[in-house]
Amino acid sequence: MAIIPVPQLSDNYAYLIVDDASRECGVVDCSEAGKVLDEVRRRELNLIAVLPTHWHFDHVGGNEELARAVPGIRVYGARNENGRIPAQTNEVDDGATVRVGALSGRVIGIPAHTNGHIAYYFPQLEAVFTGDTMFIAGCGRVFEGKAETMVASLAKLAALPDATRVYCGHEYTIKNLEFALTLEPDNQPLRAKYAWAKKVRAEGKFTIPSTIADEKQINPFLRTASPELRASLKKLDGAISDDPIAIFAKTRALKDKF
Ligand code: ZN
Ligand code: FE
Repeated sequence: MAIIPVPQLSDNYAYLIVDDASRECGVVDCSEAGKVLDEVRRRELNLIAVLPTHWHFDHVGGNEELARAVPGIRVYGARNENGRIPAQTNEVDDGATVRVGALSGRVIGIPAHTNGHIAYYFPQLEAVFTGDTMFIAGCGRVFEGKAETMVASLAKLAALPDATRVYCGHEYTIKNLEFALTLEPDNQPLRAKYAWAKKVRAEGKFTIPSTIADEKQINPFLRTASPELRASLKKLDGAISDDPIAIFAKTRALKDKF
């Protein structure tokens, strides 16, 4: 069993999910089919499924080409993305199961970035694919939902086991950490993660995956209860209440301009 990141466009990740016994694999979020198909051939795998997290072009742009290259391939997608997933064959809802060889993944509905955004959670791999909802030390912009929608979606992901590895849709880690440090400059795990990420990126490596345990310590969008984060926000806006939705919304608004 393996998870293989395949960089796409300027900062996107597709991921191959491989079942070693059958050599079957699925791909999460493909925008450039050529790079994914090259990796599949090089490793002598059999691509059987496409697992898009949401309809944005940088997550599904390669679907049509994959469907042409691999007749019969299953292309999943959330029912409530309203038909916007190219080449879709299978509509899934929250709680549905997707299969890649002997691996089974659970669909988790996590709307807000888009109405039908989903994550794929594979307990056998201790891994969750979070698309543009949870990034390392960040979260996606709230395009189709409200602040409270995103708070609820992030809470569903945060409720997964601590050891769950987080594979997100973009390499935004350094910028996210720099923003997080403006609100929690004394957060030691956050400072340590930033130093680590700078080193990793300087070496040309990926900062994925993170873990749910890590994210609870460093991700400002999961840390609406942090006294330091709240104090920082109150310095910027004395009127802000202690309501977690308001704290989240203010944090998100600041990040939108960062
Ligand atoms: Zn997106
Ligand atoms: Fe994206």
